[in-house]
Amino acid sequence: MNVDVMTRPAVLILLGPPGAGKGTQARMLQEKFGLVQLSTGDLLRAAVAAGTAAGQQAKAVMEAGGLVSDDIVIAIIKDRLADEDCRNGVILDGFPRTTVQAQALDALLASTGQRINAAISLQVDDTAMVDRISGRSTCAGCGEGYHDTFKPPHDDGSCRKCGSPELTRRADDKAETVAGRLDAYHAQTAPLITYYDAAGVLQSVDAMAEIDQVAGDMATVVKSVMS
Ligand code: AMP
Repeated sequence: MNVDVMTRPAVLILLGPPGAGKGTQARMLQEKFGLVQLSTGDLLRAAVAAGTAAGQQAKAVMEAGGLVSDDIVIAIIKDRLADEDCRNGVILDGFPRTTVQAQALDALLASTGQRINAAISLQVDDTAMVDRISGRSTCAGCGEGYHDTFKPPHDDGSCRKCGSPELTRRADDKAETVAGRLDAYHAQTAPLITYYDAAGVLQSVDAMAEIDQVAGDMATVVKSVMS
């Protein structure tokens, strides 16, 4: 872990459509910089699995590829940001996804004296996203992400990181749901690129390159904003 560039808790936001590689890159940055990856998608899936009230409300919307209500998502992230492990800094993966969420995050950070170091836009070609998403799987043991073509697991299908034989595919990664998720991104999340540009914190990375190349570019950006 390289913590030499960290002098105060960092807040990084990853922006990009589903399939852009936000989760993969967030996990790599987490390991490299000792930041905590906060994925609202993961938090919501955990709430659904646990059968909480929020999870019960979110389930159908998530399965349909829509966005869960701002109130639910903001409450979930607010709770999680208050946890002790977030004190070293966080990478927000999949949050905010609407202007209302971005404004709520601004207010939350202002109340704790924090600021956004960077909102990093992962720039991708939309037409490639369906292929990227439909080949995805996740290790049930350690959460490592895989892709049938771009980042395959071991030949026997087990996880390269922890050896677990169980890799799962997300229910909402079906081709028929992906188009709706991309639409939701363009209608509700893409305007945040302008929002963070206006705030002076927007950074962009070409996310069509090889995973390691993207990771290197991301690390360069992160080092430059964590002072
Ligand atoms: P993700 O794992 O980021 O692709 O998120 C999976 C699903 O969770 C999305 O398609 C949404 O239904 C829901 N979700 C995740 N994050 C948010 C958010 N910030 N706002 C609204 N819905 C979200």
